[in-house]
Amino acid sequence: MIIKNRPKRGLFFTMEPYIQISKINDFIFCPQSVYLHTIYDNFDAATYHDEPQKEGKLNHENIDNGKYSTSAHILQGMPVYSHHYNLAGKIDLFDREKKMLIERKTSIKHIYDGYKYQLYAQYFCLKDMGYDVERLRLYSLKNNKQYDIPLPGDDETRKFEKIIQRIRRFDVLKNVSCVSEAKCARCIYSNLCHLSGATTRTDQELLNGKK
Ligand code: SF4
Repeated sequence: MIIKNRPKRGLFFTMEPYIQISKINDFIFCPQSVYLHTIYDNFDAATYHDEPQKEGKLNHENIDNGKYSTSAHILQGMPVYSHHYNLAGKIDLFDREKKMLIERKTSIKHIYDGYKYQLYAQYFCLKDMGYDVERLRLYSLKNNKQYDIPLPGDDETRKFEKIIQRIRRFDVLKNVSCVSEAKCARCIYSNLCHLSGATTRTDQELLNGKK
């Protein structure tokens, strides 16, 4: 396959294990949640998922099964990868005619950084695979609202790369205090996590990497 539009600058992560795109959102929410997610992967999700997660899972199962559209120019649930960043995962929807990548969420009340960086990861993968992507969009299924997200420029790309580096370097044994009380309160693992509510730092301080 001919790889077009490969990002020309930034960090290369060859020889590193692949990062699942879905883990980026989790990591930004809380690095500890990635660790718990991995542990509870083997359990029935019903044991820790609340109603919103069950609803979101159902939406994504429909997406993965290609139930939303039969149009040939809409690619649904397609596996994507980036050799440049060593990322792999699935996109939600890509409209080849509009050159638009769309990620649907059950309900979007706020554009969290995790949503954006997850979309960037899918975007970089599609570009690495030779697709022409010009627009990014988040779509809130419950209230039928859509949010256009600008393509990542240099600053956003640098922030994205920094997050990928932090994921690679994360050591659960050495990063026991990287949580915030507010996040623990809305975390699906709060009943299972011994760090729940361990600090009172804000989400923004955590995103900026404050120790
Ligand atoms: S309960 Fe708190 S520390 Fe534990 S995974 Fe959730 S957000 Fe992170």
